[in-house]
Amino acid sequence: MPVKVVVGAQWGDEGKGKITDILAEQADVVVRYQGGSNAGHTVVLGDEEYKLHLIPSGILHPDCLCVMADGTLIDPLVLAEEVQGLQSRGCSCDNRRISCNAHVIMPYHIRLDELQEQARGRGSIGTTKRGVGPAYTDKSQRMPVPVRAHDLLDADVLRQRISAQLAVKNKIIQSLYGAEPMDAEAVFQQVWPAAQVTAKYVTDTRAIILQKLADNAYIVLEGAQGTYLDLDYGTYPYVTSSHPVAGGACLGTGVGPSAIDEVFMVVKAYTTRVGGGVFPTEDSGALGEHLRQRGREFGTTTGRPRRCGWLDGVALRTAARVNGATAVAVTKLDVLDDLETIPVCVAYQLGTERVDMMPTWPEDIEQCKPIYEHLPGWQRPIGDCRAVSDLPPQARAYLDKIAQLADAPVTLVSVGPSREQTVFYP
Ligand code: GDP
Repeated sequence: MPVKVVVGAQWGDEGKGKITDILAEQADVVVRYQGGSNAGHTVVLGDEEYKLHLIPSGILHPDCLCVMADGTLIDPLVLAEEVQGLQSRGCSCDNRRISCNAHVIMPYHIRLDELQEQARGRGSIGTTKRGVGPAYTDKSQRMPVPVRAHDLLDADVLRQRISAQLAVKNKIIQSLYGAEPMDAEAVFQQVWPAAQVTAKYVTDTRAIILQKLADNAYIVLEGAQGTYLDLDYGTYPYVTSSHPVAGGACLGTGVGPSAIDEVFMVVKAYTTRVGGGVFPTEDSGALGEHLRQRGREFGTTTGRPRRCGWLDGVALRTAARVNGATAVAVTKLDVLDDLETIPVCVAYQLGTERVDMMPTWPEDIEQCKPIYEHLPGWQRPIGDCRAVSDLPPQARAYLDKIAQLADAPVTLVSVGPSREQTVFYP
């Protein structure tokens, strides 16, 4: 049975949640490999919309084991709320497992995230203020030893870790930011009830995953955010603090690279990004606004309006290579339904040079001017299409262009938010 990575090709919000949910119908395990509660994956089931921040997008399939692996960050308060919300809608969430090694986002990480963003002022990097950056920083800092999921099992250990952390963090909070110190016992009391909800599911997930591999199970490794938000391969510094690229799936789960059979790259039919940073194909005019409204491009976690623009073939070509994409899922194709022509960036002009691959230095990207081809639109609704032959020829030509740019076949096309609004290539 295959091991598949689901990875976003752009700046996140590609619709990975829907794709993972579809794969989970057949999968034995879905594993989130990085990121924390800054992710916002949406799964639509009939009239019901589920927003998932931490829990893998396979959770609505009770027979599918859903693992939050070593590379993820757990916020017990967010997780408890998310679980409660799902349980109130009939989803038991008993199929969830949490790595004992996953680092924990604590209230002081959120406080530091807020203070850091405030202090950056106009130079803010637009974090979601969910404490993700500070928690990953603590993970690499190592001392004092940060809270990991295993520490949520024992009140004494948790208290001790919080005190040691706040002994250092309060100095930073007070002297660097001039803010009020945090009280260790109050932080413990805030986290402990949620920790108890989580603790039951904390386990050695690496052992579970390796056993599933040995049992030849169907495993989906689910990324959050997207390629260009990767700490190393994204458009630094406007990136996240983990590794969404497909390689991050190995680091975050303990699965070796040779065990991965397929890298399923999720490509939104146009491009969006949240917050600052380079965006060569951004359209700040009326058509960009049309994409935002039709695509409901407002953040799942923050509600922030997303910047919108056209498909960037240079970014796509590069992402396909960085991730080693073997297949492509195209999402939100229906958002382009009304357009007479659709611009697709096929190369950049950088000075006198034509550039086919994304430069790595953001200031070079800033200088790049997109070179567009204009493809004919289909100008009819495609939300009811269920087979490739139902799609208008112009839509098929658009998908062929994506496959050509990615140098990988398109095997799935999403034409609306719900599970049924999906076209599988035979
Ligand atoms: P993710 O973080 O990559 O899972 O993406 P988000 O959940 O942030 O954003 C995707 C949004 O688009 C969600 O609201 C989905 O319900 C919705 N969506 C997913 N696929 C489609 C599609 O094919 N068409 C339309 N119109 N919406 C879609």
